Amino acid sequence: MHPWCGYERLINICQKNQKNLTTIPHYAILPSYIILTECCSIVTENRHPMRLNVGFLINSPIGTSRDFHFEFPRIHLQPDLDLNDLIGVARIGRTPQGLLVQGKFQARFEAECVRCLREFEQPLDSEFSELYAFNRRSVSESGLIVPEDGKIDLEPLIREYLVIEIPISPLCKIDCKGLCSICGADLNEMTCEHQLHNSDATITS
Ligand SMILES: [Zn+2]
Ligand SMILES: [Zn+2]
Repeated sequence: MHPWCGYERLINICQKNQKNLTTIPHYAILPSYIILTECCSIVTENRHPMRLNVGFLINSPIGTSRDFHFEFPRIHLQPDLDLNDLIGVARIGRTPQGLLVQGKFQARFEAECVRCLREFEQPLDSEFSELYAFNRRSVSESGLIVPEDGKIDLEPLIREYLVIEIPISPLCKIDCKGLCSICGADLNEMTCEHQLHNSDATITS
């Protein structure tokens, strides 16, 4: 279980909210959950693991904010992004114009090195700030509006910000030596005869 949260406490909260909780005290078995900083947790709907009920913030005084923590060992962000170890926090604050979401997220993406063709985990790191406006008059460039049901789904936003962090040409390491263009040997692990004959041999990229 998350170090901040007692398992018992999580069960109580789930029962109060009539949410289902699998009874093994290990977070990894939960398909999705959210931990609030005030030490309570909500198991969310599987289909919308990042949907937050922020109705209470809409009715709070200006300046009120709340942190929502996210942690998913594996997650699929609709429609196409699979990530490992997604972890992050979204601070949602009440402003006169709407709800300001300040997010800080990290995840790992399974990528293939363009030089050596090996699979590796590309770390992604993103920080953003977006306003969900109360009405059209104060809407920002992103065009985000607080939905009428008071539920904000951060999934599209987080996907968008993480996806742009994926490099076009991922490298397993900055000085990856790649493969020999003649015999295909992985030059990170060995030097083949072609490299010995020609020290300027081309590195495939
Ligand atoms: Zn490589
Ligand atoms: Zn070779």
